[in-house]
Amino acid sequence: MAFMAMVTCSECGRAVSNKAAACIGCGAPLGVSPDINYVAPTKAATPPSPAQIRRRTLLSLTALMMGVFWASMVDHAHASHRLPLFLAALLIIGGLCGLLVSLVHSVTVKT
Ligand SMILES: [Zn+2]
Repeated sequence: MAFMAMVTCSECGRAVSNKAAACIGCGAPLGVSPDINYVAPTKAATPPSPAQIRRRTLLSLTALMMGVFWASMVDHAHASHRLPLFLAALLIIGGLCGLLVSLVHSVTVKT
């Protein structure tokens, strides 16, 4: 007999094969199973080195500056151009997020 574990559906309590993508009883997705720990990969990942954090901070700052510069350029030239403004906003948001991540890392990672 081939190994096939049965899992209990969290929606209706029915026993379903863990090979099934969704519950055969109610159709609830079975992707989230209790024996899969989604936190583990994050914990297993090695913390970034101070050099990596510095590089990322620099990269984020560059993206942020470029975004701000780009946005101001586009704004003055053609206020109707939405795509460049959107891209500039993406750069700014991405840069800010990168800066935040770097900040959190630099605080949590003991150097
Ligand atoms: Zn179900």
